[in-house]
Amino acid sequence: MSRVPDWKRAERSPGAPGASCDDRGGRGSSWNGPSGGLGPRAAGSHEPPLCFRLENHLVGSVIGRGGSKIKDLQRSTNTKIQIKKGDCEAVVKIFGSKDMKAKAKAAIDTLIKRQERYRSESDVDNAASQPPVGRDVSTVNVVREAPPLMDLDRIKAEAVAWEKRKWADLPPIKKDFYTESKATSSMSKEQVDKWRKENYNVMCDDLKDGEKRPIPNPACEFEDAFRPYTELMKSITRAGFLKPTPIQAQAWPIALKGVDLIGVAQTGTGKTLSYLMPGFIHLDGQPISREQRNGPGMLVLTPTRELALQVEAECSKYSYKGLKSICIPGGRNREGQIQGITKSVDIIIATPGRLNDLQMNKFVDLRSITYLVLDEADKMLHLGLEHQIKKILLDVRPDRQTVMTSATWPDSVRRLAQSYLKEPMIVYVGTLDLVAVNTVKQNIIVTTEAEKRALIQEFLENMSPKDKVIVFVNRKLVVDDLSSDFGIQGLPVQSLHGDRELCDREEALEDFKSGKVKILITTDLVSRGLDVNDITHVYNYDFPQNIEEYIHRVGRTGRAGKTGTSISLITQDNSKIANELIQILKRANQSVPEDLVAMAKRYNFHKQKKGTQKKDQENLEENPRRIMFTLKSCTSYGKI
Ligand code: AMP
Repeated sequence: MSRVPDWKRAERSPGAPGASCDDRGGRGSSWNGPSGGLGPRAAGSHEPPLCFRLENHLVGSVIGRGGSKIKDLQRSTNTKIQIKKGDCEAVVKIFGSKDMKAKAKAAIDTLIKRQERYRSESDVDNAASQPPVGRDVSTVNVVREAPPLMDLDRIKAEAVAWEKRKWADLPPIKKDFYTESKATSSMSKEQVDKWRKENYNVMCDDLKDGEKRPIPNPACEFEDAFRPYTELMKSITRAGFLKPTPIQAQAWPIALKGVDLIGVAQTGTGKTLSYLMPGFIHLDGQPISREQRNGPGMLVLTPTRELALQVEAECSKYSYKGLKSICIPGGRNREGQIQGITKSVDIIIATPGRLNDLQMNKFVDLRSITYLVLDEADKMLHLGLEHQIKKILLDVRPDRQTVMTSATWPDSVRRLAQSYLKEPMIVYVGTLDLVAVNTVKQNIIVTTEAEKRALIQEFLENMSPKDKVIVFVNRKLVVDDLSSDFGIQGLPVQSLHGDRELCDREEALEDFKSGKVKILITTDLVSRGLDVNDITHVYNYDFPQNIEEYIHRVGRTGRAGKTGTSISLITQDNSKIANELIQILKRANQSVPEDLVAMAKRYNFHKQKKGTQKKDQENLEENPRRIMFTLKSCTSYGKI
């Protein structure tokens, strides 16, 4: 069995092999070889070991990653090598025959010389601080110079200069493309406030430090934002849209002015076009032509493949001046993507993992990007994609324009915005709840786990031919379980979850979108991204883990001006969400079932009781004497 090298704090053990060496490295970490340090058993182990000292910082280059180098060395020289790190130096002991010990020592010297050459080439240390290497223990008697202090200012200045050099040859960037219409500029403050209030309570803020800039008035009609861009106006007319959605009306003037933007809104609010359309204008209006740019100008990062495909669909639907887009979600044919990306593409829509892979392998150059979108930032963070985003953005010019969307605005998303956006303005579309659920009749059924099957069975059997339902469950296993059960009963269903093959997922979505099947059973995989406008019902077979997810799920119906219905089964296990749910229902003027109120009350009572107990416990821990005194005095007054 192979064993992981054992870098552990070494105990000072006088009886250990080689203890006759000047063993000052008692308080350090040690490499005892793959045998676990029970004692060297190499050929010639009766010989005294060859001992010498090594600066601590050189030990790594002898051991290698995961002990790879030292293992090779031992194998090739038939020796056992023990390294014990001390405060500044490590003691190296080589056990084996005389010849082999010398051979191993020579190999170590070579490794060290190579390391030192590398260090001097990369100019990390200056020559004066280079330590003598691999000396015999007997010769160690040198007064060492203190290592030079790190010159942080110099390092910072170098980093700034490097950054400047990195972006020095970039073409200029133009960001402001907005001409405010007369109708928009003539709006009074009262009219603007009234419009914002009536449009899902749109709220805006300037996040720039210091003096705040005025927030542009909303562009209430399409002409107010895009009158000079006739081709864009034509595709809007073709789509048959009547008015900009609230997020569009407020976001377009900001984005068109070239200001970084955060849009707190979710799918179904028209957020995709709120960043795509200004992006199209930005790309087409750059001082350097698209041909000369020689690379993509817009990058949209999305958390999931499904959302990436949807954004790509919107992009193609409203295509502007022949701008070419490519979608590179993970899980798809990498070779095809590589071939596609090398052609003259203007817009990349990608999931961070796959794009980072192509970027690292130099299949895509992101230096030409001037318009960046981080779509559904909260979901990207939730899926742990921050690291990949960070790596991608190292290659995107820092003076780009950046738009970020998010359905929620927690601290983690704020931090992300602080890192990647410059002096942004933020637009919130209402409070989350109102956006998604005003057009949905929300039914809540308080039930038990055992009753759930019968309830959904009854619902599915009573569906009318024009109904289309998406059933949400919390676990993949239950998706499979329910879909195979209903399939056996002859109910045409499709199912979706992260463990299904990509082609199966796409087929399931296609069947559902086209209406080939009217029932889709899924996990939260599609709770946000799914853009199917004719879903009549959302059925929460399992209640979601948090209220935001509830809102996302419910928002899959009642879209694009239609109304919808949701049915949510809630059990005692979900009681901690009952209070928030009641608030949501009340704000959306929905009826609140009595047993939900009772559930919330029970939960509050238990929470309060637990809180009191915890407080007592804390008091007891903090001040046991006081509690004891209180208890005693109560007893003496006959109260307990
Ligand atoms: P999104 O929030 O981007 O997922 O958009 C949801 C759906 O709304 C998409 O199918 C869009 O095509 C549609 N949409 C976008 N803007 C408008 C608008 N101004 N009026 C009506 N529908 C729109």
